[in-house]
Amino acid sequence: MTSPIWHPFTQHALFPAMRPVVSAEGAWLLDGDGRQVFDAISSWWVVTHGHCHPRIVQAIRDQAGRLDQVIFAGHTHEPAREFADGLLKMVPAGLSRVFFSDSGSTSVEVALKMALGHFRHLGSPRHRVVVMQGSYHGDTVGTMSAGERGSFTQPYEPLLFGVDRIPFPEPGAEQATLDSLERFARDPTTAALLIEPLVLGAGGMRFYQPAILAEMAAICARHGVLLIADEVMTGWGRTGRFLACDHACVAPDILCLSKGITGGHLPLAVTLCREEIFQSHWSTDRSRTFFHSSSYTANPIACAAACANLQIWREEPVQARIDAVAAEQAEGAIRLEGYPGLTSVRCMGTILAAEIGAGGADYMADTGPALMRFFAERDLLIRPLGRTVYLLPPYCSTGAELRACHDAMIEAADVFG
Ligand SMILES: *Cc1c(COP(=O)(O)O)cnc(C)c1O
Repeated sequence: MTSPIWHPFTQHALFPAMRPVVSAEGAWLLDGDGRQVFDAISSWWVVTHGHCHPRIVQAIRDQAGRLDQVIFAGHTHEPAREFADGLLKMVPAGLSRVFFSDSGSTSVEVALKMALGHFRHLGSPRHRVVVMQGSYHGDTVGTMSAGERGSFTQPYEPLLFGVDRIPFPEPGAEQATLDSLERFARDPTTAALLIEPLVLGAGGMRFYQPAILAEMAAICARHGVLLIADEVMTGWGRTGRFLACDHACVAPDILCLSKGITGGHLPLAVTLCREEIFQSHWSTDRSRTFFHSSSYTANPIACAAACANLQIWREEPVQARIDAVAAEQAEGAIRLEGYPGLTSVRCMGTILAAEIGAGGADYMADTGPALMRFFAERDLLIRPLGRTVYLLPPYCSTGAELRACHDAMIEAADVFG
């Protein structure tokens, strides 16, 4: 009997067979046929230290037997408090409040609502949102509105709200981005710039320089526009530092974190903000309440996993592991560079990306699924964005494992390049 399950981002007519996965450890998945598969994309960018990290698994076990779930309006619990306190020690100065939710998309929706609520309560006309072309912020209606429009969003276009878009800072054309931002920032109705710092993830693993991020932050600050950093993907070490913003010494007004927040073990997200955004909602007037929640907001088990993740960051050599993966990826990039069939080989921290074959990044290119199959046959979980092949591995990956991925990229370039 065929499965009743409707899978995400899956065209069932073309790809009816799903790979069953029965267990996982470190950077490896074990499938239903007993094959070991190397998880080169951290199971959609969430796994940081490795699958089933013993300390996180133990924390989940312990918490599940103590307090499973409780309403978070009017109630609180130690795992949430411990995580919020610990996290605030790791993020840029100025961020002082932590709002919990349960996915990256939701954390961005919360950020947008915080920004608009803030200005509304101040009596300011600011309500427009500026975003970068090619960006991705999630798949809910609000985050689709903010993200790049295309085949993914076409059917839902009537539901999407308008935003202002600045161009991606192509190398050599960065000034156009800054000028465009300057124009929008001067508009007295502009509320916020929502941005993926340094890396456009789903938009094709495109990178831009920390100096540009710093200049964009300065423009926002000069004009009283809030800077919302969507670090859902870049956070938790992916770019080589804890946050991508850290490369540019940028302190955003609002910060979105999810994916690596529990080390990739359970869904959880937070939106952090500066004190004045909390204060503009603080009132004896109940209509100024921040009206947002999801049923599982700050689920204690997820928070306990996040606390264990923070402990790992404090007590294990996480930065050294990140540095080792980054060094191996940088070496890989040197090997891949100039290889026929590979273009735009690039590396940022633990992320390595390149386009295979000519024709640009085009997500709908048929090469994408063919490449995915090619890598799957080699027991590598690599899921290209169109012709863009990227590696975004867990930090426990070894040099030999990463070199095998680089070899596979070269092999793929021979076949598809
Ligand atoms: C994945 C992602 C999101 C959405 O997160 P979900 O948990 O899938 O909702 C938002 N922003 C960025 C930058 C992402 O990479």
